[in-house]
Amino acid sequence: PRPMETLNASLAAAAAQRVATAVGRAVVHWFKMDLRTADNRALSQASDKAREAGVPLVALYVLSPQDFEAHLTASVRVDFMLRCLAVLREDLARLDIPLWIETVAERNKVPERVLELMERWGARHLFVNLEYEVDELRREAKMARMCAEKAMALHVAHDTCVVMPGTLRSGTGRPYAVYSPWYRAWVRHIHENLELLELSEGPSRNPASAREIFAGLFDCDIPPPPENKRLSEEEAQIFQSLWPAGEHEAMKRLDKFCEADIGGYAANRNIPSTSGTSNLSVHFASGTLSARTAVRVARDRNKTKKLDAGIEGIQTWISEVAWRDFYKHVLVHWPYTCMNKPFKPEYSNIEWSYDQEHFAAWTEGRTGFPIVDAAMRQLRGMGWMHNRCRMIVASFLSKDLLLDWRMGERYFMEHLIDGDFASNNGGWGFAASVGVDPQPYFRIFNPLLQSEKFDPQGDYIRKWVPELKGVVGKAIHDPYGRGVGPQAKKAGYPKPIVEHKGARERALAAYKRGIESG
Ligand code: FAD
Repeated sequence: PRPMETLNASLAAAAAQRVATAVGRAVVHWFKMDLRTADNRALSQASDKAREAGVPLVALYVLSPQDFEAHLTASVRVDFMLRCLAVLREDLARLDIPLWIETVAERNKVPERVLELMERWGARHLFVNLEYEVDELRREAKMARMCAEKAMALHVAHDTCVVMPGTLRSGTGRPYAVYSPWYRAWVRHIHENLELLELSEGPSRNPASAREIFAGLFDCDIPPPPENKRLSEEEAQIFQSLWPAGEHEAMKRLDKFCEADIGGYAANRNIPSTSGTSNLSVHFASGTLSARTAVRVARDRNKTKKLDAGIEGIQTWISEVAWRDFYKHVLVHWPYTCMNKPFKPEYSNIEWSYDQEHFAAWTEGRTGFPIVDAAMRQLRGMGWMHNRCRMIVASFLSKDLLLDWRMGERYFMEHLIDGDFASNNGGWGFAASVGVDPQPYFRIFNPLLQSEKFDPQGDYIRKWVPELKGVVGKAIHDPYGRGVGPQAKKAGYPKPIVEHKGARERALAAYKRGIESG
């Protein structure tokens, strides 16, 4: 059975055996990738429960260094999450709600530790928003069983997606494996169930006694990042100013984007030198902004109050946020795609290259393809890369270099501030043609044409590849092929590590061979 089915079975078994569970002395909300107080389904339900029972709400966050390892969490992402926790702790403290941060060295001990804390606090109800990754679903299934044994209640909410993964099925009852019909069903489903866009109330203030009863919990420090996830001071400063943390920054950014840029989104979203996109992915990935709020705020600017009518930029943006929902739907239905396997088995037989020099050139942004190098340096410089460039560099890695796409997927997770398992896997599966609803394998991006089309003046390249700053005109896209080789060489910019036409032929042949033998 899929992990989601196992969890549902555990929850049903727990519900069947549950004797009326007394509330106890507190109700607990366990924060995960939902680091916000606004429009947070499980937090809101936990708060209601606590208020009705007249007991305090206690918030918990579990920091597990092993989880960071297992999830390949980038240092910039850990830094961002810890900064978000600091904001959250302050917001909760203003409501007399303590946020306790517990560090658990071994990730498989997390459920036991959460239950120990609940017992210590005299709490019998635990609220969580579900995460759909395989390990997390399995952990929650275990939690459900352990809670039931102790006559505690685990309440799970579906919060991270606008439409709960698993809800939408095609006319034949099968899950969708293609985005467009899925997206139409997604829109229809929301229009028919408008409560999906209703925002949850923020938590209520705790009774004043909470400060006395749980005095020790209010003094919890934000722990430092694990040794191997620390940024240098200089890096920390750069990332703090690039990516201010917390839900208030997320709302500010959303409002500003909706005010200034969403109208032009359809036209500008592919131009990496402009601020044509929202830059909100880091907030979605950390849960400092809910997808529901984002879709709601954008939709409300549309006079039609529809997701798929009215201002084009709004429609297009909402359809991009829907991609995030789509990839979580994929994760729930075909969990093996996120376990290093292609969606279609016949793609398992492609003979990938593992050339370390090529891989190093790609990661360091010295492939000799300016648009690729600019993008890879943007990733290092910002912990983020523009979507168009993610597609270009992923296509380049898997097709021009024929490197195993999983090397690129992994490297992205290790460096992205918005690293999200499902979206990253989905993006790599798309670009390398091995995923659900992928780019056909024979569509191979030509980096030069992509560069000319989406960075016509070379502004993006000049920003990230200073060696080419002095190159004028179209030569910026291909300095060695367009007569400014000596200038590029003098500035230390490398020659192309492969020749695109030949690399393309090699990729086509390798894909074809792999698929036919699969
Ligand atoms: P906007 O253009 O403003 O879009 C709004 C939101 O919609 C984004 O914040 C994001 O949540 C969602 N979205 C947009 N495009 C996609 C998409 N193709 N797939 C899924 N969601 C999307 N996105 C991540 O959040 N985390 C990742 O780890 C990630 N890895 C990627 C890897 C590859 C190879 C590719 C091609 C794409 C990846 N994406 C990932 C999707 C996309 O590139 C980013 O979400 C986007 O660039 C974030 O910038 P933005 O917030 O300004 O996006």
